[in-house]
Amino acid sequence: MADRIPEEKIDQIRQALDIVEVVSDYVGLKKQGRNYFGLCPFHGENTPSFSVSSDKQIFHCFGCGAGGNVFSFIMDIEGISFQEAVVKLAERANIELEMNVTSNLGEKKASKEIQAAKDAHELLRKFYHHLLVNTKEGQHALEYLLERGFTKESIDKFQIGYSLNSWDFVVKFLAKRDFSPEWMEKAGLIIKREKDGTYFDRFRDRIMFPIFDRHGQTIAFSGRSLGADEPKYLNSPETAIFNKSKILYNFHLAKPNIKKLQHAVLFEGFADCIAADRAGVENGIATMGTSLTDEHIAILRQNVHSITICYDSDNAGIEAAFRAGNLLDDAGFQVKVAIMPDGFDPDEYIKTFGPEKFRKDVIDASYTWMGFKFLYFRRGKNLQNEGDRLSYIEQIIKEISKLTKVVEKDHYLRQLATEFSLSLDSLKQQEKQIYFTEKRKEKSNATKNRKPLYIQNQASELKPAYYTAERRLIAHMLKNRDTAYKIQELLQGNTFNIDEHQAIITYLLGYYEDHLEPNVSAFLSYLQDDNLRKMVATIEMMPINDELNEQELHDYIKQVLNHKKMLKIKEKELELKEAERTDFKKAISILEEIKQLRNSL
Ligand SMILES: [Zn+2]
Repeated sequence: MADRIPEEKIDQIRQALDIVEVVSDYVGLKKQGRNYFGLCPFHGENTPSFSVSSDKQIFHCFGCGAGGNVFSFIMDIEGISFQEAVVKLAERANIELEMNVTSNLGEKKASKEIQAAKDAHELLRKFYHHLLVNTKEGQHALEYLLERGFTKESIDKFQIGYSLNSWDFVVKFLAKRDFSPEWMEKAGLIIKREKDGTYFDRFRDRIMFPIFDRHGQTIAFSGRSLGADEPKYLNSPETAIFNKSKILYNFHLAKPNIKKLQHAVLFEGFADCIAADRAGVENGIATMGTSLTDEHIAILRQNVHSITICYDSDNAGIEAAFRAGNLLDDAGFQVKVAIMPDGFDPDEYIKTFGPEKFRKDVIDASYTWMGFKFLYFRRGKNLQNEGDRLSYIEQIIKEISKLTKVVEKDHYLRQLATEFSLSLDSLKQQEKQIYFTEKRKEKSNATKNRKPLYIQNQASELKPAYYTAERRLIAHMLKNRDTAYKIQELLQGNTFNIDEHQAIITYLLGYYEDHLEPNVSAFLSYLQDDNLRKMVATIEMMPINDELNEQELHDYIKQVLNHKKMLKIKEKELELKEAERTDFKKAISILEEIKQLRNSL
């Protein structure tokens, strides 16, 4: 992959940038000793285990094992390819890439197709908006919106538009501008007729809501019907540029406000988001007809740590809020939940009670996450009934036992004691019991679900000597080219015991063939395998001595080779047992072999 853009260019970009600066755009970093630390953007956590080394120009997370250089960081966080990451970072470093270096034809075509899809969306967004606000054809749609409480400002702000009541307006409009119909079909703007292969417009006679990506580029539409046409909302299909699980509606406009307020409000749909914006809630975002995904959480995590969930207050909405809240809570967000009277959604609430009441009585009066759970578990229960009451109390105590702050635990236990006239002491005792039972369960689960090797590395459990020895040898090989060759020689054709370790040194020796100077960050670009990359970042962050003295070196090599011999001895011992029963002569010769192996340890 790396060879399409010349390697010198990639090196040039890498050298022109400081990884600390690049990462700082996404993660708040604090200097601690030689390295910088922050909350990992790739997994939820409350205490920083994500570190960036300015000397080595790499990042590494002790929690989830993420790691790599500046290119892998941008690839992971933006969810883009290596090529795209290089282009992005070249721009940042002010280094020009002659784009004809993208010699791969397939890829060139794909990127052209994507650009065409984006251009067509932008063009149509402008045109739909123009139709709505300036033309006779769009007048009824405009009136419809104004009657429903939309303002001219908000129609402009969200670039709302209107699609003509025509089967082929967009087909012709795009063809006239030389957009390939096949590409436009793939972009979701037009649809192919099965019977004759001709095309027709996807959106007809609908109010058009453009959906923007985080850079403000139009990538999809949602069309709302004006009358009884079903569906009420027709969305663009998923395409190369529109991936619902990655898109948060209004993110590009809300981002500055979210940063300023250090808080975001999450809605279930874009209509609520627009209504709330009219009501003065300008830090609102919404998912696009999907439940909250890990990708959404990763985007949010880079910008904010405190979120109010404001979903519909019907059964489905409350269930969805409970799910989203759990995900956000697990990811370390401070979660609140806004509740409206039964059955209301934000849009209707604002229409009925006005913007001010919405801000004051709904958003500002949001429940804490625990407070919401008090309500949530109460649903469908009759607390006058003893059975229901006891099961409710137990559920709540279980939730309280998950809290980390003693003060909070105490607060909610008191609330429970007061409400049900129970003794605070007995509640406290029960809470402790539940807490320890859950802890035990967690512990036994943790031993059952062992994590992959590279994550395990940071766990406190002891590693066999050869494992540590191999890692230390790799660490020195990464630092010094001569040491790398020397170690290779001392291994006398033997390989490392851990396959991944062997793969790393094989790549590393390959790297040294073409590069004279050791450079971990450059080596990470050279390594194509993501798992190996993470492992190298982990190894590189291990504290080791600058110099590897002869004694140390031979000890490590010995440990690597001894493990192989130990395995051989075990194998021979099994053979021996077998031979003792059947072939006495053979047994003696095996015994001799074992002796020799033992002596060489
Ligand atoms: Zn992590």
